[in-house]
Amino acid sequence: MKRVFFLVIMVIFLVYIAPLGFQYYQKRGDGEEKIHTVQNVENILDSQASAGQNAEDTGEDAGSGAEAQEDAAMIAVSVHGTVKEMTLEEYTAGAVAAEMPASFPEAALQAQAAAARTFAVYKQSLGQDETHPDAAVCDDYTHCAAFVELDTQAESLWGKKAKEWTEKVQAAVKATEGEIVTYNGSPIAAVFHSAAAQQTESAVSVWGTDIPYLVAVDSAGDDACPEYDASKTFGAEEFRQIMLAEEPDINLTGLPKTWFTEIESSEAGGVTSCKIGGKSFKGTRVRELLGLNSTHFTIKTTDTSITFHTQGYGHGVGMSQYGAKCMAEQGSSYQEILQHYYTGTKVEKIGAK
Ligand SMILES: [Zn+2]
Repeated sequence: MKRVFFLVIMVIFLVYIAPLGFQYYQKRGDGEEKIHTVQNVENILDSQASAGQNAEDTGEDAGSGAEAQEDAAMIAVSVHGTVKEMTLEEYTAGAVAAEMPASFPEAALQAQAAAARTFAVYKQSLGQDETHPDAAVCDDYTHCAAFVELDTQAESLWGKKAKEWTEKVQAAVKATEGEIVTYNGSPIAAVFHSAAAQQTESAVSVWGTDIPYLVAVDSAGDDACPEYDASKTFGAEEFRQIMLAEEPDINLTGLPKTWFTEIESSEAGGVTSCKIGGKSFKGTRVRELLGLNSTHFTIKTTDTSITFHTQGYGHGVGMSQYGAKCMAEQGSSYQEILQHYYTGTKVEKIGAK
């Protein structure tokens, strides 16, 4: 009798109670698994889409925590074509000094320090650069970022203010020591420019690559930049020669007012493309060919001339330096400035996970 009773209890347990526990266990397991899976996939997609990293790079990043941290502390910099090894912090100070007026408020200089350091770490993470295979970065601002050697060049850069400004720049670097801007745990392409035109440009508008943290955001204070408003006038014949040297097939006959058609703009107002003499040009190409301050331009013509009026200075993507200055003056911290201009990012110590 006892045995039968025990069997009944066992059957009840196996049929009703055990499955409940198993289901509960399965549910928990599923939930956790899902969270991990989604994060992992996003990480891979984002680092590929944003950083342009290939699978190999991503693998390397994931594999070496402490090692990467040690490597990141030193950097090879091509200075006037000579490769120099220095600490990442030394490089950062030289880049801040060259890229931003040292008279800017501290939080702006700190934001610039973190952005310059991040850009260098990002370039390192991409592996060998074709232009300077033995260095991670160079001192050409059109290619990487401007850089000066503070030990020897502070005097010529700042004159009597050399000591004061050197200390101010070094303090900004120290305050952000080892900190970089990350998106999903990877260093970002922390691009910056002098001044936007009240709104930054997205990477996709300017370079055709969609990068989640480089989207258009409001930017106040850009008009404090001395080059914010600028005009450049070309004689009709001069303009014709510049453009025909580039594209011999375009039709620049008749009056200048008929030469410009189909002007397309980004949401921030920059010219993404326009037709000149019947042929389509990217806004960035027009800026380059004509030496304009930005792609944020309007065109005015007379019968004998063409005037381009620009607003902003630089490509307009990422952090605006004059915008950073304005935010700092209004009390924002460097983290707030960086997270404003680089959407959805974090500021963290190198190697922190
Ligand atoms: Zn370079």
